[in-house]
Order: sequence, then C-alpha cells, then structure tokens
Amino acid sequence: MAIPFFKEMRIGGYLIKQKLLGRKRYPLVLMLEPLFRCNLACVGCGKIDYPDAILNRRMTAQECWDAADECGAPMVAIPGGEPLIHKEIGEIVRGLVARKKFVSLCTNALLLEKKLDLFEPSPYLFFSVHLDGLKDHHDKAVSQKGVFDRAVSAIKAAKARGFTVNVNATIFDGHPAEEIAKFLDFTTELGVGVSMSPGYAYERAPDQEHFLNRTKTKKLFRDVFALGKGKKWNFMHSGLFLDFLAGNQEYECTPWGMPARNIFGWQKPCYLLGEGYAKTFKELMDTTDWETYGTGKYEKCADCMAHCGYEPTAATAAINNPLKAMWVALRGIKTTGPMAPEIDMSKQRPAQYIFAEQVQKKLSDIRRDEAEAAAAKQQQKASTAA
Ligand code: SF4
Ligand code: SF4
Repeated sequence: MAIPFFKEMRIGGYLIKQKLLGRKRYPLVLMLEPLFRCNLACVGCGKIDYPDAILNRRMTAQECWDAADECGAPMVAIPGGEPLIHKEIGEIVRGLVARKKFVSLCTNALLLEKKLDLFEPSPYLFFSVHLDGLKDHHDKAVSQKGVFDRAVSAIKAAKARGFTVNVNATIFDGHPAEEIAKFLDFTTELGVGVSMSPGYAYERAPDQEHFLNRTKTKKLFRDVFALGKGKKWNFMHSGLFLDFLAGNQEYECTPWGMPARNIFGWQKPCYLLGEGYAKTFKELMDTTDWETYGTGKYEKCADCMAHCGYEPTAATAAINNPLKAMWVALRGIKTTGPMAPEIDMSKQRPAQYIFAEQVQKKLSDIRRDEAEAAAAKQQQKASTAA
C-alpha cells in the first residue's frame, strides 16, 4: 500500500531540525504493519504471501506504540495487510494520535464504513483508501467485483462524518495515461487528495508481468501530467517527487526515510524489500549496510521509483534547495524535453533470495513461543492443583 503526504504535513520543521543537528540518516514516516492478513488478494501485492501461522500474527497495541516512540518519525503510516482487520486498531490509532503522530491509516475500505465508530476525526488522522483506478480497473486490480463501489461509498461516509480521506493508487504497466487522468478527475470530484506511486516489483506478487520499468514510468507520468495541465489535481506529494516521476530529477533513494516495523521486527532495508530484520530501530540504523541498496547498487532495486524510497529524497532536496522546489511548484512539471540522466546499472550486485529462509525462521520462533506458552500454562495448572 502507498502512503501520501508531505504536502500539508507539519514536517518541514522536523526536517530543518535534523539538518541543523547534522543528522545524516533520520526517519520521516514509520511504516507500521501490525499484521499481514488481508481480506483481498490483489495481483500486484507482495505482502500477503505468507503461511497462515504468520498471517495470523498481530503486533500488540503496546508494540505499535513502542515502535513509534523508538523511531521518533513525525508520521506513522499503517498499511498491512488490512489494518482494519486488527481487533485493536481503534486503540492503536488513539495511542498514536495521543502521541501527536500524524497517522495515515491505509485501507482497502471493505470494512471502513462498518468500523468508522472506532475512530474520531482529528487533524492527526487520515484515511488513505486504496483505489488503483476507476471502477473496472480497480476491481480487476484487486481481483474482486464491487470493491470500487464499496470503497467510494466508504469514502463518502467517512467524509460526511468529518474524517479526512485521501486515496492511494499504485500504477502498473498497461494503465493508459488517459484513464489515469480520468481517475484523477474523479478524485477531484470526490474531494479527496491522491498519492500515486509506480508499483514496486515484489518478488512474491502473483502478477509479475505488469510492473513498470523506470523508462516506462517516466514516460507514463509525463503523459499523465501533460493531460493534467490546467487542472487542479490534489496530489499528496511534494512537487519534486512528481518531477522525479516525470524523469526530471536524478535521485537516489532514501531507504531509511520510511522505515518499516512489522511482526518480524524492523525490516532491512526498507518497506519494499525484506532482506533481514533488526530487533530495535537503533539496530536497524546501525547495522544495515545502506550503501549496498538502491538503484544501480542492487538488482532488486533496479526499477524502483516508489514514493517510500524517493519521497524522503525529494523532501530533503526541497529543504536543501528551496528555490528549486519553488521553481518546480511555479513552473509545473516539465513533460517534454530531455530527461535527467539515468543511474548507471552496470555495477549492481545480483539479487539474493532469502524469503523462504526468513519465513522458516519466523515459523520456528512461533512454534517455540507456542511450546513455551503451553509449558507455562501446564506448570501453572499443576501448581494450582497442588
Ligand atoms: S488490499 Fe493491500 S494488502 Fe490487501 S491484498 Fe491488496 S495490496 Fe495487498
Ligand atoms: S531502491 Fe531504495 S526504496 Fe526502492 S527497494 Fe531499493 S532500497 Fe528500497
């Protein structure tokens, strides 16, 4: 799932503070995945391909709050899985809002209308509803008819109750620019902001055919932005990130900008790519070999232009070069002319495949925990009886 923002978030001050403190690496958004279970099975999803024992695991509310405290990012995005399946989701969000974290609750919206009572409208809370396009396109992307209509109905219900709602769209190959433009017109009519990101080529996603490569991504976004000239589409992104999508900026990703915490621990190196886990946020920052990740460095990063790697880069670039950011905001996104040079891919290291190993390790941990819990229960029973 994608997350929006930076546009209207009060994180500018946080960024300037990090710069003044001379910090090289710092988080902007915590990607908190309290569970992987979902009530959909989208073809481009790389998050739900786990055995049941793992899909049934949940982070506790306390673990979620501890992660937010430990990480210290001003914003927490809660993707999943489907977070509304989590029984403690209302409590988790309340605790994060109480900590004055901006919370973006990412949902496919199937349960949203039913669960609105669990939440209270707050300037700190946003629902980010997964919509990949207009009706036919979205229902195909999520492999279920009727999901678009339910999501739109939930968006209207949430807005009527005073909640802020945005939509997040993942863009895949084969989605024509004209249709994306119509979808963006529709979001304007609906009165919601949009975050948009090219889908990351998850190695576990069922459909491997439709991930965009970088050249196609830039061309597609140029075509979309050209169709949007003069329109007031409400993007939840910085202008520089959109300019990057259109091929006008040469950026390296900032994988620590949106660190991910899930039932495995702190994911190395980023939300998209699971190459090992750390027990604490500090351990993640200190022990990840950051220099070995990113486009041009690692095969699995070759086509990545996703917001969670590059929006933090764009945000930092805006702080370092406000005039450039202002120029892009005034001029709009350039949709013709030469593109910024592409990163050299000739020296990237080959992909490593460790998914099965990680799953096996987690399953052994789960079995050990269950055996220990059963033994403790047995012992308690025995001592009560004695
Ligand atoms: S709704 Fe999100 S988490 Fe669920 S299957 Fe679709 S992409 Fe994956
Ligand atoms: S390019 Fe960066 S953000 Fe994208 S998968 Fe690689 S490390 Fe993660």
